[in-house]
Amino acid sequence: MLTAIVGINWGDEGKGRMVDLFSQEYDVVCRYQGGNNAGHTVVNDKGKFILNLLPSGILNENTVNVMGVGMVIDLQHLSEETGRLRAGGIRISPDNLKISDKATICMPYHKLLDVLEEDRLADKKFGSTRRGIAPVYADKYYKKTLRMGDLLHPETLREKLEGIVEWKNLTVANGYGHAPVDVDETLAWLLKYGGEFKDYICDVSEFLYQAEAEGKKIMFEAQLGALRDIDYGIFPYTSSSSSIAAYAPIGAGVPGLKLTNTVGIIKAYSSCVGEGPFTCELFGEDGDKLREAGGEYGAATGRPRRVGGFDVLASGYGVRVQGATSLALTKLDVLSYLDKIPVCVGYRLNGERLDRFPLGENLKHAEPIYESFDGWHCDISGCRTFEDLPKEARDYVRFIEERVGCPIQYVSVGAEREAYIKMF
Ligand code: GDP
Ligand code: MG
Repeated sequence: MLTAIVGINWGDEGKGRMVDLFSQEYDVVCRYQGGNNAGHTVVNDKGKFILNLLPSGILNENTVNVMGVGMVIDLQHLSEETGRLRAGGIRISPDNLKISDKATICMPYHKLLDVLEEDRLADKKFGSTRRGIAPVYADKYYKKTLRMGDLLHPETLREKLEGIVEWKNLTVANGYGHAPVDVDETLAWLLKYGGEFKDYICDVSEFLYQAEAEGKKIMFEAQLGALRDIDYGIFPYTSSSSSIAAYAPIGAGVPGLKLTNTVGIIKAYSSCVGEGPFTCELFGEDGDKLREAGGEYGAATGRPRRVGGFDVLASGYGVRVQGATSLALTKLDVLSYLDKIPVCVGYRLNGERLDRFPLGENLKHAEPIYESFDGWHCDISGCRTFEDLPKEARDYVRFIEERVGCPIQYVSVGAEREAYIKMF
């Protein structure tokens, strides 16, 4: 069985928290795209953990975790992240972590280029997390990158690196006028941090096809939401990889297999990190209160997130591009403080009401149409059945379900593992 757990919105929907919950039932959890540019926060009986690169199943004793072919991996970050988790009592070894030999290595000069370019753009910047993700994906498609499997052949590493660095310095030194990338220094970095993971690097496809054939339950964990997908998101304010479910088997390492189901994680209100159109955005006191209530600060960067009411159009679009078969609605408890719950029920463009999410230029000019729903004004974090929820909260859940056209299977009412309602 192959399940994708993906974000319906702009990311930070609580995917990590839901994957942590579901992963107890899965034999294998895979990451299939991205690098350490985003973060999942998971709170469970062992403590609070922030995961940037590792699949969330790593927190679960019996789950095997795969870092797939579509990922870009900053070795130093991986070393630090595994170190932090081990210090927190998490076991990480080659039998519960498998890293694809085809995954791309995100190098220190990719980070450098990200910073140089964002600085060059100054006030026109895209809001990159400056972790080298766009530069490394660009180089991947340029076919001028090292892959994890190259670490298993140290005898040819210098030669490969020299060729790439020579080309890279055309941009770093000749273009940006920065000090050139040094081969020795970069090679030392590769050997130091890459050396730690040699025993983890393998052909994950082999492992995954085998696991599927044995009837194992495999989960694919997305790192960013639908609206950040390179092709289907709010380009160019997207990530540089495919975050949608359809890409999951490809990015994990099993392109020949089809997903059995796709669970979309959808948040009870909206949040967005960085630049770009965010039609439903709330400003001033309304925004500040919601940001505070939801703790909307980036897990990877600490940046305050932009916030808004639930966005019917953007979410409906997200459900469709993800091909979600069911939904998990998160952070419903965050709205408990509100008398009236603001919901962005549609957009207006040039005086006309839109009933589909627009992209490109139209999105830039769209204005939100807000309506408000009655709040419930009590603590719902202890609710464990749908009937436990106050009527106003039940109405809100049913409204979202109806408008986005997909059944809500879970409602999350707190960050803790057990704080959720299973609807069916
Ligand atoms: P991800 O990137 O989609 O995994 O989401 P993040 O981890 O960046 O952000 C979600 C945040 O909300 C985390 O701090 C979670 O612990 C927290 N969270 C997740 N679900 C809930 C929920 O239902 N209620 C509350 N109050 N917090 C939640
Ligand atoms: Mg996040």
